[in-house]
Amino acid sequence: METDERSLFSRIIDREIPADIVYEDDEVIAFRDIAPKAPVHLLVVPKTGQYRDVAELAAGDPALLATVVATAKRLADEHANGDFRLIFNTGAGAGQTVFHVHAHVLSAPGEGNSLEEGNLAD
Ligand code: 5GP
Repeated sequence: METDERSLFSRIIDREIPADIVYEDDEVIAFRDIAPKAPVHLLVVPKTGQYRDVAELAAGDPALLATVVATAKRLADEHANGDFRLIFNTGAGAGQTVFHVHAHVLSAPGEGNSLEEGNLAD
């Protein structure tokens, strides 16, 4: 029997699982986190499932990592006030649950609003 080893995020990319997709191009997809930890909480995910975490991505395809960061900035400009916190949980001990590299983009909408520092390590 074949097992489906694709990640949850690959299944979202393939439209097998619904998500609130806010951006997509040939290299990355971005959608709203199902359990938001900030007023704006988006996930930016490379379409390739070949990198488990940001350390693997940085070593294997630094240009794609730069694309993830540039996408985060563009989305923070579009969905929030342009400032954002970028989090890559790396390893189960750091809270990573989906082993398909993804950036959490946390931000607050509206001029003058900001994230609370206390949210950093929740
Ligand atoms: P990690 O803990 O691996 O850094 O982040 C995984 C994130 O994926 C979590 O913040 C979690 O809320 C989010 N998540 C888990 N399942 C789903 C889902 O089915 N849809 C969406 N949009 N987000 C999900």
